Amino acid sequence: MRPLADGTTPPKDSSYWVALQQFDEAAAVLDLKEDMADLLRHTKRELTVNFPVTMDDGSIRVFTGFRVHHNTVRGPTKGGLRYHHLVDMNEVRALAMWMTWKCAVVNIPYGGAKGGVIVNPRDLSEDELRKLTRRYATEISIVMCPEGDIPAPDVGTTPQTMAWIMDTYSMHHGHSVNAVVTGKPIEIGGSLGRFEATGRGVMITAREALKTVGKSFQDVTVAVQGFGNVGAVTAMLMQEEGAKIVALSDVSGGIANPKGLDVKAVAEYCETHGKLVGFPGSDEISNEELLTYPADILSPCALENQITAKNADKVQAWMIAEGANGPMTPEADRILEDKGVFIIPDILCNAGGVTVSYFEWVQSLQFFFWSEEEINQRLERIMVNSFHAVMAEAEKRKIERRVAAQVLGIDRVAKATELRGIYP
Ligand code: NAD
Repeated sequence: MRPLADGTTPPKDSSYWVALQQFDEAAAVLDLKEDMADLLRHTKRELTVNFPVTMDDGSIRVFTGFRVHHNTVRGPTKGGLRYHHLVDMNEVRALAMWMTWKCAVVNIPYGGAKGGVIVNPRDLSEDELRKLTRRYATEISIVMCPEGDIPAPDVGTTPQTMAWIMDTYSMHHGHSVNAVVTGKPIEIGGSLGRFEATGRGVMITAREALKTVGKSFQDVTVAVQGFGNVGAVTAMLMQEEGAKIVALSDVSGGIANPKGLDVKAVAEYCETHGKLVGFPGSDEISNEELLTYPADILSPCALENQITAKNADKVQAWMIAEGANGPMTPEADRILEDKGVFIIPDILCNAGGVTVSYFEWVQSLQFFFWSEEEINQRLERIMVNSFHAVMAEAEKRKIERRVAAQVLGIDRVAKATELRGIYP
């Protein structure tokens, strides 16, 4: 791999290496000029913050957070905030880069960003989390604003986290600035349909993919890894459409029932017990077993690098709907493509979240709100059109769908860069 401008190459086991490798492959398909490719494979700006939080016992603990803007050519930057103990700069860079291509694939006027704090939110009390969030929001407010960079929830963050960020930013400005984050609670300017949007997008793209092989949700069984915002809604909506959900998992383990699991009842069980394992009438399985469980569709909705060269061969699903960002390594991708698995790539499959975030931002800027029906109709139209645009690109160029999605996104960003020109 070509080194970056500072002479370094990211570690081979990092998500950033995967994102750059995917970019280089798509840039070669597009025959991008080397200087344009060089420009697009770099992040625009990167902020690291170390900041103190007073813990419940009176001690002071220092946390590290990041905010990365990958590209601002098509508009303000957009991307989630992750609270996870394994977050690092290379992961945030990769996620920011994928956000740029994702926004371009669904053709919404944003560039990509991502942020994160190295913390396991389960280890902190609500009060500590609130203080951490308010201080982190203050620290990144030098690069965050409603016209320039708009965060949203990701792994380990929730609508409540967004409410604290919106309030913190608003306190610094002397008036309410609703449009500084999306994924907010409805009561303070959040959008109807945003909570379900990513899972709804996964369901829509999987439904369209099934149609291309003459099937519907009534014909298939599904296994979902991750039972958070994306995974739980994906499972719920696919079940509503007639799919049989046979396996589910979260960080503490998985459950399965070949006859089908009642996802609503599982969600209620999870709410009271804090985990899935133990759900009545289910067998306990490990997360590893979930990925290779006999199901027609596998939807990884947890973290990166879950499907690797080690387990790809054992995956039994013939369709993979990537709710998570970067859930498989390039080696696993190759193995599954060779097996003829229908992969709906992350930057298309999970783009419903950022699409409704865009709707939320527009509504927040105008203080004028749309009905849920209107939001879901607009989301449906964008996801269906984007799905078919990616399929057409793959068909036209005879390339894999993942490369086709990247090609579509990167081409739009490259064209916008040419039109704007290089400053000064
Ligand atoms: P979340 O924090 O709400 O849920 C994450 C889930 O994954 C939890 O159930 C957690 O227990 C589980 N999990 C964590 N580590 C796991 C492991 N090793 N094995 C199995 N399960 C594990 O996060 P989320 O918002 O649902 O995000 C999930 C994925 O979707 C991430 O890759 C995120 O970047 C991506 N994504 C999220 C959105 C969004 O709108 N929230 C949009 C696009 C993409």
